[in-house]
Amino acid sequence: MKAFSYDRARTAQEAIAAFVAAGEGARYIAGGTNLYDLMKLGIERPAHLIDIASLEGADRVDTSGDRLFFGGGALMADIAEDPILLRDYPVLAQSLAKAASQQLRNMATVGGNLLQRTRCPYFRNGANGWYPCNKREPGSGCAAIGGLDRSQAVLGASDACTAVSPGDWPVALTAMDATIEVLSIGGPRVVPVSELYLPPGDTPHLEFALRPGEIVTGIAVPKTAAGRNSTYLKVRDRESFAFALASAAVALDMDGDRVRQAHIALGGVATRPWRAGETEAIVQGHPLTRERALKAAQAAFTGARAGQHNTFKIELGVRTLAVAILNAGRESR
Ligand SMILES: Cc1cc2nc3c(=O)[nH]c(=O)nc-3n(C[C@H](O)[C@H](O)[C@H](O)COP(=O)(O)OP(=O)(O)OC[C@H]3O[C@@H](n4cnc5c(N)ncnc54)[C@H](O)[C@@H]3O)c2cc1C
Repeated sequence: MKAFSYDRARTAQEAIAAFVAAGEGARYIAGGTNLYDLMKLGIERPAHLIDIASLEGADRVDTSGDRLFFGGGALMADIAEDPILLRDYPVLAQSLAKAASQQLRNMATVGGNLLQRTRCPYFRNGANGWYPCNKREPGSGCAAIGGLDRSQAVLGASDACTAVSPGDWPVALTAMDATIEVLSIGGPRVVPVSELYLPPGDTPHLEFALRPGEIVTGIAVPKTAAGRNSTYLKVRDRESFAFALASAAVALDMDGDRVRQAHIALGGVATRPWRAGETEAIVQGHPLTRERALKAAQAAFTGARAGQHNTFKIELGVRTLAVAILNAGRESR
Protein backbone atom coordinates (compact mmCIF):
# COMPACT_ATOMS: atom_id res chain seq x y z
CA MET A 1 0.00 0.00 0.00
CA LYS A 2 1.27 3.47 -0.85
CA ALA A 3 2.26 5.66 2.15
CA PHE A 4 -0.19 8.45 2.97
CA SER A 5 -0.57 11.22 5.52
CA TYR A 6 -3.67 11.54 7.70
CA ASP A 7 -5.65 14.37 9.34
CA ARG A 8 -8.82 14.30 11.40
CA ALA A 9 -11.20 17.26 10.88
CA ARG A 10 -13.70 18.52 13.51
CA THR A 11 -15.94 20.55 11.21
CA ALA A 12 -16.89 20.41 7.53
CA GLN A 13 -15.17 23.78 7.00
CA GLU A 14 -11.97 22.45 8.58
CA ALA A 15 -12.12 19.35 6.36
CA ILE A 16 -12.59 21.44 3.20
CA ALA A 17 -9.69 23.72 4.15
CA ALA A 18 -7.49 20.65 4.75
CA PHE A 19 -8.54 19.23 1.38
CA VAL A 20 -7.63 22.46 -0.44
CA ALA A 21 -4.31 22.75 1.42
CA ALA A 22 -3.35 19.15 0.60
CA GLY A 23 -4.00 19.63 -3.13
CA GLU A 24 -4.09 16.74 -5.60
CA GLY A 25 -4.13 13.34 -3.94
CA ALA A 26 -6.36 14.43 -1.04
CA ARG A 27 -9.37 12.25 -0.19
CA TYR A 28 -12.02 12.27 2.49
CA ILE A 29 -12.51 9.13 4.53
CA ALA A 30 -15.59 8.35 6.65
CA GLY A 31 -16.19 4.75 7.80
CA GLY A 32 -13.34 3.60 5.57
CA THR A 33 -15.13 0.35 4.66
CA ASN A 34 -14.77 1.00 0.94
CA LEU A 35 -11.80 3.36 0.64
CA TYR A 36 -9.37 1.39 2.88
CA ASP A 37 -10.39 -1.77 1.04
CA LEU A 38 -9.53 -0.22 -2.33
CA MET A 39 -6.27 1.21 -0.96
CA LYS A 40 -5.20 -2.26 0.15
CA LEU A 41 -5.99 -3.57 -3.33
CA GLY A 42 -3.84 -0.78 -4.83
CA ILE A 43 -6.80 0.65 -6.76
CA GLU A 44 -7.05 3.87 -4.75
CA ARG A 45 -3.73 5.57 -3.98
CA PRO A 46 -4.45 8.81 -2.08
CA ALA A 47 -1.51 10.83 -0.77
CA HIS A 48 -3.47 12.46 2.05
CA LEU A 49 -6.57 11.32 3.95
CA ILE A 50 -8.90 13.70 5.76
CA ASP A 51 -10.99 11.80 8.28
CA ILE A 52 -14.54 13.16 8.36
CA ALA A 53 -16.02 10.39 10.51
CA SER A 54 -16.56 12.64 13.53
CA LEU A 55 -17.48 16.02 12.05
CA GLU A 56 -19.68 18.10 14.37
CA GLY A 57 -23.35 17.50 13.59
CA ALA A 58 -22.62 15.22 10.61
CA ASP A 59 -24.75 12.41 12.05
CA ARG A 60 -27.85 14.60 12.51
CA VAL A 61 -31.15 12.97 11.57
CA ASP A 62 -34.38 14.97 11.41
CA THR A 63 -37.66 13.34 10.41
CA SER A 64 -39.91 16.01 11.96
CA GLY A 65 -40.32 18.56 9.12
CA ASP A 66 -41.75 18.32 5.61
CA ARG A 67 -38.74 16.29 4.51
CA LEU A 68 -36.54 13.57 5.97
CA PHE A 69 -32.95 14.67 6.57
CA PHE A 70 -29.93 12.42 7.14
CA GLY A 71 -26.49 13.88 7.84
CA GLY A 72 -23.82 12.47 5.52
CA GLY A 73 -21.98 11.07 8.56
CA ALA A 74 -24.97 9.19 10.01
CA LEU A 75 -24.26 5.49 10.37
CA MET A 76 -26.02 3.01 8.11
CA ALA A 77 -26.94 0.91 11.17
CA ASP A 78 -28.69 3.82 12.91
CA ILE A 79 -30.78 4.76 9.88
CA ALA A 80 -31.64 1.12 9.15
CA GLU A 81 -33.10 0.83 12.66
CA ASP A 82 -34.84 4.21 12.89
CA PRO A 83 -38.39 3.48 14.18
CA ILE A 84 -40.00 6.32 12.17
CA LEU A 85 -38.49 5.04 8.95
CA LEU A 86 -39.39 1.45 9.73
CA ARG A 87 -43.01 2.56 10.07
CA ASP A 88 -43.38 5.32 7.46
CA TYR A 89 -40.58 4.68 4.90
CA PRO A 90 -39.67 0.99 5.08
CA VAL A 91 -38.05 1.17 1.62
CA LEU A 92 -35.32 3.43 3.04
CA ALA A 93 -34.71 1.41 6.21
CA GLN A 94 -34.78 -1.92 4.36
CA SER A 95 -32.32 -0.79 1.69
CA LEU A 96 -29.79 -0.17 4.44
CA ALA A 97 -30.66 -3.18 6.59
CA LYS A 98 -30.15 -5.47 3.58
CA ALA A 99 -26.74 -3.95 2.74
CA ALA A 100 -23.39 -5.39 3.88
CA SER A 101 -23.27 -6.83 7.44
CA GLN A 102 -24.13 -5.49 10.89
CA GLN A 103 -20.43 -4.90 11.61
CA LEU A 104 -19.99 -2.91 8.39
CA ARG A 105 -23.20 -0.94 8.95
CA ASN A 106 -21.90 0.01 12.41
CA MET A 107 -18.88 1.67 10.73
CA ALA A 108 -20.15 2.83 7.36
CA THR A 109 -21.91 6.14 6.75
CA VAL A 110 -24.89 6.95 4.54
CA GLY A 111 -22.76 9.57 2.75
CA GLY A 112 -19.95 7.09 2.05
CA ASN A 113 -22.48 4.52 0.84
CA LEU A 114 -23.50 6.88 -1.98
CA LEU A 115 -19.93 7.10 -3.21
CA GLN A 116 -18.71 3.50 -2.92
CA ARG A 117 -17.13 2.13 -6.08
CA THR A 118 -18.21 -0.81 -8.20
CA ARG A 119 -17.66 -4.45 -7.21
CA CYS A 120 -16.91 -5.47 -10.83
CA PRO A 121 -14.31 -8.25 -10.36
CA TYR A 122 -12.13 -6.91 -13.18
CA PHE A 123 -12.10 -3.46 -11.57
CA ARG A 124 -11.23 -4.83 -8.12
CA ASN A 125 -8.77 -7.58 -9.03
CA GLY A 126 -6.71 -6.03 -11.74
CA ALA A 127 -4.51 -3.41 -10.11
CA ASN A 128 -1.46 -5.56 -10.88
CA GLY A 129 -2.12 -5.10 -14.59
CA TRP A 130 -3.75 -8.52 -15.03
CA TYR A 131 -6.96 -7.20 -16.56
CA PRO A 132 -7.78 -4.03 -18.47
CA CYS A 133 -10.49 -1.83 -16.95
CA ASN A 134 -11.57 1.52 -18.35
CA LYS A 135 -12.87 2.59 -14.96
CA ARG A 136 -9.58 1.88 -13.20
CA GLU A 137 -7.25 2.76 -16.09
CA PRO A 138 -9.00 4.98 -18.68
CA GLY A 139 -8.51 3.74 -22.24
CA SER A 140 -7.16 0.31 -21.24
CA GLY A 141 -10.26 -1.66 -22.33
CA CYS A 142 -12.88 -3.73 -20.52
CA ALA A 143 -12.11 -7.35 -19.62
CA ALA A 144 -15.69 -7.92 -18.43
CA ILE A 145 -17.05 -7.55 -21.97
CA GLY A 146 -16.70 -11.07 -23.37
CA GLY A 147 -15.34 -12.23 -20.00
CA LEU A 148 -16.95 -13.57 -16.83
CA ASP A 149 -19.88 -11.20 -16.88
CA ARG A 150 -22.41 -12.93 -14.61
CA SER A 151 -22.61 -9.96 -12.24
CA GLN A 152 -22.52 -7.23 -14.90
CA ALA A 153 -25.22 -4.71 -15.85
CA VAL A 154 -27.94 -5.36 -18.41
CA LEU A 155 -29.18 -1.75 -18.34
CA GLY A 156 -27.17 1.40 -19.02
CA ALA A 157 -23.94 -0.31 -20.09
CA SER A 158 -21.68 1.12 -22.78
CA ASP A 159 -19.00 -0.39 -25.04
CA ALA A 160 -16.47 0.83 -22.48
CA CYS A 161 -18.02 -0.46 -19.25
CA THR A 162 -20.71 -2.81 -17.93
CA ALA A 163 -19.96 -2.45 -14.21
CA VAL A 164 -22.95 -2.48 -11.86
CA SER A 165 -23.62 0.35 -9.44
CA PRO A 166 -23.32 -1.55 -6.13
CA GLY A 167 -25.25 0.42 -3.50
CA ASP A 168 -28.74 -0.42 -2.21
CA TRP A 169 -29.48 2.88 -0.42
CA PRO A 170 -28.96 4.96 -3.61
CA VAL A 171 -31.63 2.84 -5.34
CA ALA A 172 -34.18 3.62 -2.62
CA LEU A 173 -33.15 7.30 -2.65
CA THR A 174 -33.54 7.44 -6.44
CA ALA A 175 -37.06 6.06 -6.20
CA MET A 176 -37.93 8.59 -3.50
CA ASP A 177 -36.64 11.68 -5.40
CA ALA A 178 -33.93 12.40 -2.84
CA THR A 179 -31.38 15.20 -3.13
CA ILE A 180 -27.94 15.49 -1.60
CA GLU A 181 -26.55 18.60 0.00
CA VAL A 182 -22.88 19.22 -0.66
CA LEU A 183 -20.44 21.82 0.60
CA SER A 184 -17.14 23.00 -0.84
CA ILE A 185 -14.91 26.04 -0.74
CA GLY A 186 -17.34 27.56 -3.30
CA GLY A 187 -20.29 27.18 -0.88
CA PRO A 188 -23.25 24.79 -0.63
CA ARG A 189 -25.26 23.28 -3.48
CA VAL A 190 -27.93 20.65 -3.94
CA VAL A 191 -27.65 17.69 -6.33
CA PRO A 192 -30.59 15.39 -7.12
CA VAL A 193 -29.56 11.78 -6.47
CA SER A 194 -30.85 11.05 -9.99
CA GLU A 195 -28.03 13.26 -11.32
CA LEU A 196 -25.28 12.10 -8.96
CA TYR A 197 -24.40 8.97 -10.95
CA LEU A 198 -22.91 9.53 -14.39
CA PRO A 199 -23.65 7.10 -17.22
CA PRO A 200 -20.45 5.22 -18.17
CA GLY A 201 -20.38 6.25 -21.86
CA ASP A 202 -16.76 6.59 -23.05
CA THR A 203 -15.61 7.85 -19.65
CA PRO A 204 -16.53 5.24 -17.02
CA HIS A 205 -13.78 6.53 -14.71
CA LEU A 206 -15.96 9.63 -14.17
CA GLU A 207 -18.55 8.20 -11.79
CA PHE A 208 -20.08 10.96 -9.69
CA ALA A 209 -21.27 14.49 -10.47
CA LEU A 210 -19.26 15.92 -7.58
CA ARG A 211 -16.52 18.53 -7.78
CA PRO A 212 -13.13 18.00 -6.11
CA GLY A 213 -13.32 18.70 -2.39
CA GLU A 214 -17.11 18.62 -2.10
CA ILE A 215 -18.40 17.00 1.10
CA VAL A 216 -21.79 15.34 1.24
CA THR A 217 -23.25 17.09 4.27
CA GLY A 218 -26.74 15.64 4.04
CA ILE A 219 -29.40 13.71 2.18
CA ALA A 220 -32.97 15.01 1.97
CA VAL A 221 -36.05 12.99 1.02
CA PRO A 222 -39.39 14.72 0.39
CA LYS A 223 -42.16 13.27 2.53
CA THR A 224 -44.86 11.40 0.64
CA ALA A 225 -47.84 9.23 1.48
CA ALA A 226 -46.26 6.57 -0.76
CA GLY A 227 -43.61 5.94 1.92
CA ARG A 228 -46.02 3.87 4.01
CA ASN A 229 -46.65 1.43 1.14
CA SER A 230 -43.05 0.85 0.25
CA THR A 231 -40.57 -1.98 0.08
CA TYR A 232 -37.03 -2.83 -0.95
CA LEU A 233 -36.72 -6.31 -2.42
CA LYS A 234 -33.18 -7.59 -2.90
CA VAL A 235 -32.28 -10.89 -4.57
CA ARG A 236 -28.72 -12.16 -4.14
CA ASP A 237 -26.65 -15.34 -4.16
CA ARG A 238 -27.10 -15.71 -0.38
CA GLU A 239 -29.65 -14.05 1.84
CA SER A 240 -27.18 -11.98 3.84
CA PHE A 241 -23.89 -10.13 3.30
CA ALA A 242 -24.01 -10.09 -0.50
CA PHE A 243 -24.55 -7.52 -3.20
CA ALA A 244 -27.76 -7.52 -5.26
CA LEU A 245 -28.16 -9.59 -8.41
CA ALA A 246 -31.41 -7.67 -8.82
CA SER A 247 -33.27 -5.33 -6.51
CA ALA A 248 -36.29 -3.08 -6.62
CA ALA A 249 -37.32 -0.08 -4.53
CA VAL A 250 -41.06 0.54 -4.80
CA ALA A 251 -43.32 3.05 -3.04
CA LEU A 252 -46.98 3.38 -4.02
CA ASP A 253 -49.46 6.08 -3.15
CA MET A 254 -52.74 4.12 -3.24
CA ASP A 255 -56.34 5.22 -3.64
CA GLY A 256 -58.18 2.03 -2.63
CA ASP A 257 -56.83 -0.64 -4.96
CA ARG A 258 -55.79 1.97 -7.56
CA VAL A 259 -52.24 3.31 -7.76
CA ARG A 260 -52.32 7.10 -7.55
CA GLN A 261 -48.56 7.57 -7.84
CA ALA A 262 -45.61 5.17 -8.08
CA HIS A 263 -41.94 5.64 -7.18
CA ILE A 264 -39.83 2.83 -8.61
CA ALA A 265 -36.10 2.20 -9.08
CA LEU A 266 -33.92 -0.83 -9.81
CA GLY A 267 -30.57 -1.98 -8.48
CA GLY A 268 -28.12 -4.80 -9.21
CA VAL A 269 -28.94 -4.79 -12.92
CA ALA A 270 -27.76 -1.35 -14.08
CA THR A 271 -24.66 0.82 -14.25
CA ARG A 272 -26.34 3.36 -11.98
CA PRO A 273 -29.42 3.41 -9.75
CA TRP A 274 -32.12 3.01 -12.38
CA ARG A 275 -35.39 4.94 -12.23
CA ALA A 276 -38.07 2.84 -13.91
CA GLY A 277 -40.23 5.59 -15.42
CA GLU A 278 -41.94 3.28 -17.94
CA THR A 279 -42.99 0.97 -15.12
CA GLU A 280 -44.35 3.86 -13.07
CA ALA A 281 -46.42 5.07 -16.05
CA ILE A 282 -47.99 1.62 -16.57
CA VAL A 283 -49.09 1.11 -12.95
CA GLN A 284 -50.23 4.68 -12.25
CA GLY A 285 -53.96 5.31 -12.49
CA HIS A 286 -54.90 1.62 -12.54
CA PRO A 287 -55.91 -1.09 -10.08
CA LEU A 288 -52.92 -3.15 -9.06
CA THR A 289 -53.23 -6.62 -10.56
CA ARG A 290 -50.67 -9.37 -11.03
CA GLU A 291 -50.91 -8.97 -14.82
CA ARG A 292 -50.34 -5.21 -14.70
CA ALA A 293 -47.40 -5.54 -12.29
CA LEU A 294 -45.74 -8.06 -14.63
CA LYS A 295 -46.39 -5.97 -17.75
CA ALA A 296 -45.03 -2.88 -15.99
CA ALA A 297 -41.94 -4.77 -14.80
CA GLN A 298 -41.26 -6.08 -18.31
CA ALA A 299 -41.35 -2.52 -19.65
CA ALA A 300 -38.37 -1.59 -17.47
CA PHE A 301 -36.22 -4.16 -19.29
CA THR A 302 -37.27 -3.43 -22.88
CA GLY A 303 -33.84 -1.97 -23.65
CA ALA A 304 -31.85 -4.52 -21.63
CA ARG A 305 -28.74 -5.99 -23.23
CA ALA A 306 -27.09 -9.11 -21.79
CA GLY A 307 -23.62 -10.54 -22.29
CA GLN A 308 -22.60 -14.22 -22.19
CA HIS A 309 -23.44 -15.20 -18.61
CA ASN A 310 -25.92 -12.63 -17.33
CA THR A 311 -29.02 -13.17 -19.51
CA PHE A 312 -30.73 -14.54 -16.38
CA LYS A 313 -30.62 -11.05 -14.88
CA ILE A 314 -33.32 -9.83 -17.25
CA GLU A 315 -35.92 -12.39 -16.17
CA LEU A 316 -34.75 -12.13 -12.54
CA GLY A 317 -35.03 -8.34 -12.70
CA VAL A 318 -38.55 -8.49 -14.16
CA ARG A 319 -39.77 -10.94 -11.52
CA THR A 320 -38.09 -9.09 -8.66
CA LEU A 321 -39.72 -5.85 -9.75
CA ALA A 322 -43.16 -7.40 -10.29
CA VAL A 323 -43.11 -9.02 -6.83
CA ALA A 324 -41.91 -5.78 -5.20
CA ILE A 325 -44.77 -3.84 -6.83
CA LEU A 326 -47.34 -6.35 -5.57
CA ASN A 327 -45.75 -6.41 -2.10
CA ALA A 328 -45.82 -2.61 -1.85
CA GLY A 329 -49.50 -2.62 -2.92
CA ARG A 330 -50.30 -5.23 -0.28
CA GLU A 331 -48.88 -2.96 2.45
CA SER A 332 -51.79 -0.59 1.82
CA ARG A 333 -54.47 -3.15 2.71
C1 LIG B 1 -17.89 -7.17 2.35
C2 LIG B 1 -18.72 -5.98 2.01
C3 LIG B 1 -20.05 -6.15 1.64
C4 LIG B 1 -20.84 -5.06 1.31
N1 LIG B 1 -22.14 -5.24 0.93
C5 LIG B 1 -22.88 -4.16 0.56
C6 LIG B 1 -24.21 -4.30 0.11
O1 LIG B 1 -24.76 -5.40 0.05
N2 LIG B 1 -24.90 -3.19 -0.24
C7 LIG B 1 -24.35 -1.93 -0.17
O2 LIG B 1 -25.01 -0.94 -0.49
N3 LIG B 1 -23.07 -1.77 0.24
C8 LIG B 1 -22.34 -2.84 0.60
N4 LIG B 1 -21.05 -2.68 1.00
C9 LIG B 1 -20.44 -1.37 0.87
C10 LIG B 1 -20.55 -0.54 2.12
O3 LIG B 1 -21.90 -0.25 2.36
C11 LIG B 1 -19.75 0.72 1.83
O4 LIG B 1 -18.39 0.36 1.90
C12 LIG B 1 -20.02 1.83 2.82
O5 LIG B 1 -21.35 2.25 2.74
C13 LIG B 1 -19.14 3.03 2.54
O6 LIG B 1 -19.30 3.97 3.58
P1 LIG B 1 -18.04 4.49 4.39
O7 LIG B 1 -18.51 5.54 5.33
O8 LIG B 1 -17.26 3.37 4.98
O9 LIG B 1 -17.23 5.14 3.19
P2 LIG B 1 -15.65 5.30 2.97
O10 LIG B 1 -15.04 3.99 2.63
O11 LIG B 1 -15.04 6.07 4.09
O12 LIG B 1 -15.66 6.25 1.70
C14 LIG B 1 -16.15 5.80 0.45
C15 LIG B 1 -15.97 6.94 -0.55
O13 LIG B 1 -16.84 8.02 -0.24
C16 LIG B 1 -16.10 9.23 -0.01
N5 LIG B 1 -16.82 9.86 1.09
C17 LIG B 1 -17.24 9.28 2.24
N6 LIG B 1 -18.02 10.12 2.94
C18 LIG B 1 -18.08 11.27 2.22
C19 LIG B 1 -18.74 12.52 2.39
N7 LIG B 1 -19.53 12.78 3.47
N8 LIG B 1 -18.57 13.48 1.45
C20 LIG B 1 -17.80 13.26 0.35
N9 LIG B 1 -17.15 12.09 0.13
C21 LIG B 1 -17.31 11.12 1.05
C22 LIG B 1 -14.69 8.79 0.30
O14 LIG B 1 -13.74 9.77 -0.10
C23 LIG B 1 -14.57 7.53 -0.56
O15 LIG B 1 -14.27 7.90 -1.88
C24 LIG B 1 -20.26 -3.76 1.38
C25 LIG B 1 -18.94 -3.59 1.78
C26 LIG B 1 -18.17 -4.68 2.08
C27 LIG B 1 -16.75 -4.45 2.50
